[in-house]
Amino acid sequence: MFCLGCRYSLAGLPDGPCPECGRVFSAADPSTWVATNPPRRHCLLERTGVAVAAMQPLPMLWIYAEFLVARLILGRWPVPSLDDPKGIEGLGVMHVLGIVIVVGGFTAMLLWPVMLIANAVVRAWSSALRIAALGVGGFILALALARLDLGHAMTWWID
Ligand SMILES: [Zn+2]
Repeated sequence: MFCLGCRYSLAGLPDGPCPECGRVFSAADPSTWVATNPPRRHCLLERTGVAVAAMQPLPMLWIYAEFLVARLILGRWPVPSLDDPKGIEGLGVMHVLGIVIVVGGFTAMLLWPVMLIANAVVRAWSSALRIAALGVGGFILALALARLDLGHAMTWWID
């Protein structure tokens, strides 16, 4: 027995609202619940959405990591416009990977609301809620890390 709204397992629970999404069910009324296991696509939709939402701050973290590696190579903090990341010996592979990750991060910012809607469409409300929380949190964290621009790492990288 699973919740109609979110497919939460209702086995052994007393009649009333689903603990996960609040949809009311009654064990005696089969039209208020479903007997089958939650379809796998729900899990996959949720996992994809969670991964995409959580990916958002990754580019900023990568840029800070690249900034640290550049410091180790140069022996001092890199200076924006003076130390081009592309020109630093030994940073090449990390910088190219960084560009891929930055593009991925921006794609994630556009994609997580789509995943949120997809989860809502299949009525996986708890999944949609989880993605919404992670999506907003991840976006704020990404924005904060970019705005902080510790040591002008962002300015240096974009330059
Ligand atoms: Zn439910």
